Amino acid sequence: MMWSELLGHSVQRGWLESAVKQSRLASTFLMVGPDGVGKRTFARLVAKSMLCLRQTPGSMAPCGDCESCVQVDANTHPDLLQLEKSADASSLSIDKLVGSKENRMREGLCYELHIKPFGGVRRVAIIDDADTILDEAANSMLKTLEEPPLGSLIFLIGTNEQRQLATIRSRSQIVRFGRLDTSHVATLLLRNGILSEANEASEVAAMANGSIGMATLLADPELRKFRSELHTMLAQRPMDFVGISKAMLAQSQGVGEEGSARRTRMKLLFSFACDFYRGILLEESSRPSSVHTKSVKLSIATAARAIDSCLTAQSEVDRNLTPAGLLESWAAQQAELCQA
Ligand SMILES: [Zn+2]
Repeated sequence: MMWSELLGHSVQRGWLESAVKQSRLASTFLMVGPDGVGKRTFARLVAKSMLCLRQTPGSMAPCGDCESCVQVDANTHPDLLQLEKSADASSLSIDKLVGSKENRMREGLCYELHIKPFGGVRRVAIIDDADTILDEAANSMLKTLEEPPLGSLIFLIGTNEQRQLATIRSRSQIVRFGRLDTSHVATLLLRNGILSEANEASEVAAMANGSIGMATLLADPELRKFRSELHTMLAQRPMDFVGISKAMLAQSQGVGEEGSARRTRMKLLFSFACDFYRGILLEESSRPSSVHTKSVKLSIATAARAIDSCLTAQSEVDRNLTPAGLLESWAAQQAELCQA
């Protein structure tokens, strides 16, 4: 992967490039923005640039074919440390981040960052799912962020800086990422071989809220069909909230027995519901929307409250509520909101 292949985010790139040029690159970055817009790809490109053995000083252009560049692309670079939440966990492993209780700061990513770089240049850490770092782990990381090893770079990747402790925020350079253009999402769907028809790629991209991650999921026609059925149910009056919660439960159970897959699917379904209400807001302001709201009459305030309730439900999926209970109370809330 080279910079020329990255779509969007040119402002953020220009900003970092000028910092590199002036030798005032920060050591810790907090990269925030919606899921699936390329934050990790961006961080990996910065890492590749800064680890490249033929890098021109003051530039952020990796050569692409030295040993280091090849290793970054193959995920085998010994100085590139990467950490993400495991699929079945609700938070990033504190042990992997700062070591187990008995060995705190004597193992784990923060410890490894202090080891002399194998390539002699620097060590780089990319920490994904930073939203889920527990306070105890965040506090243990502070010393590393306060006095980072010379030349090291740390990228924390999350959705919103407010999800971080103030002490982490204040020690990080915050880089905010926006959503991708719909045309970029369509291009990526075709380029990554997820879809092959340009028309279908455009149609899917229009539903994806500027996220290639969302677009990749929506490439599944069955899932698009359910999204559209859910929108029809949400538009129906009176709203059949029992039917809605049953349909969503069945859809989330359809991904298999595994709890984490079901939770991920459930969050996706709440975001489909969210799209419906966003569609109403967009229609109100005469902007194009991928949602057919069938002229549902809802005040802007009600639609905004309904969006809030979808986001709250989404954040409650990871807590220990029974899925059926969460869905039923959410759906009942929708019916109540839309009656008002
Ligand atoms: Zn190189």
